[in-house]
Amino acid sequence: MFEYAPAPESRDVVDIKPSYRLFIGGEWVDSRGEERHKTVNPATEEALAEIAWATEEDVDRAVGAARQAFGAWSRTPGSERAKYLFRIARIIQERSRELAVLESLDNGKPIRESRDVDLPLVAAHFFYHAGWADKLGYAGYGPDPRPLGVAGQVIPWNFPLLMLAWKIAPALACGNTVVLKPAETTPLTALLFAEICRQADLPPGVVNIVTGAGETGAALVGHPGVDKVAFTGSTEVGRLIARSVAGSGKKVTLELGGKAANIVFDDAALDQAVEGVVNGIFFNQGHVCCAGSRLLVQESIADDLLDALKRRLATLRLGDPLDKNTDIGAINSAAQLARIRRLSDLGEAEGAERWSPVCPLPERGFWFPPTIFTGVAQSHRIAREEVFGPVLSVLTFRTPAEAVEKANNTPFGLSAGVWTEKGSRILWMADRLRAGVVWANTFNRFDPASPFGGYKESGYGREGGRHGLEAYLDV
Ligand code: NAD
Repeated sequence: MFEYAPAPESRDVVDIKPSYRLFIGGEWVDSRGEERHKTVNPATEEALAEIAWATEEDVDRAVGAARQAFGAWSRTPGSERAKYLFRIARIIQERSRELAVLESLDNGKPIRESRDVDLPLVAAHFFYHAGWADKLGYAGYGPDPRPLGVAGQVIPWNFPLLMLAWKIAPALACGNTVVLKPAETTPLTALLFAEICRQADLPPGVVNIVTGAGETGAALVGHPGVDKVAFTGSTEVGRLIARSVAGSGKKVTLELGGKAANIVFDDAALDQAVEGVVNGIFFNQGHVCCAGSRLLVQESIADDLLDALKRRLATLRLGDPLDKNTDIGAINSAAQLARIRRLSDLGEAEGAERWSPVCPLPERGFWFPPTIFTGVAQSHRIAREEVFGPVLSVLTFRTPAEAVEKANNTPFGLSAGVWTEKGSRILWMADRLRAGVVWANTFNRFDPASPFGGYKESGYGREGGRHGLEAYLDV
């Protein structure tokens, strides 16, 4: 084993203000309400800043500002809108270190991930959609597709800035204006993004950011002035939103939960598959909607794979998210930690066998060790429910048909992984897996050109690629 000296990224690159206001009509404005909450660093429980909790009246002001900006923005030629998006993309690249440190502080994810995965993808999404802005007539939606109007967008805490990019970049490229609500535990990068909009000289009101919790989100999606609702979050809240907008004529996309199967066949390159399984479930502490939280392994190699997996897990380093050597950071909130603990305890109570490597946890903050459950039955709650944490359930199969049946035996359908050397088997499996994304001999790979979305309770609509544009156009 190597000993690693501490290699912390400096947090001096970010300037966190003691408190933040709302970003409406290109200005920082006070909330009309009194309520304010602290956002904390989940690795230390240190309060980072105070955040306004936007009221219904604030949401109304923000939607009004977006409506006012819509006329001119939607008439701005695509080539001009593209310039703003390219400018934003370049500023994100220039300020990527600052954004990555801020994301890790507010979310708890390792700096290696925010620096090397989140931020490059955020910039890529703006670059990609900047490219579309003047070519919408060639996207397959008619010669001159029109925008929808004001988009009300609500995002979760697991990839705060990346989810913002998935929402704002296509909306703006298509000529819509936006009111976005970040998650209550991770508002800071969205607020820094508001600064970036100012730096890019984006016309006032094109992007508005309102912070707050579920009530603010509900006020936004329910606002009669919103033409399009885009939501990423839990299936539970997705259902509430679908109900609240039903019959209103608003266009909706819902990106919800998942319980993906990562399927390893006996002919797969074992070491590569182990890396893929680790990346599939322990990346971002398992706070990933498309996480490979169910490992389906062919029975004949199950023991070998598990041994290799456990050896690999013993080398993962858990700790300070700002340390460049950290593999596993902090759980985002006390509430999420309680949920992971509850479901893991249930797994044991239902008869599955729990294993974690020796892994000292820091005293302060919210932490959970990488955990594997074996002897899992399909009926166990850890095999059915989304844990949204670093917890892997291992099941076995004998034939490809059994693998498909078990993989599809879930109310979700967001993603799946297949590990095998046979190309024909990959295609056979991909045809039968009811999942929006199927990765072959890799996992958790994202590209702005590739549509992402789910079947069944994982939601509807697609984000990214040409397909994602449809959600923001009147077609
Ligand atoms: P959540 O549903 O609790 O919250 C998501 C957002 O919705 C937050 O901003 C929250 O404030 C807001 N919200 C809460 N109640 C609301 C209401 N009644 N009306 C409107 N908005 C409301 O989810 P979470 O715990 O923040 O995120 C984790 C979930 O997100 C997981 O289930 C995960 O699978 C899912 N997710 C899905 C994708 C995807 O693309 N499919 C991506 C990331 C996360």
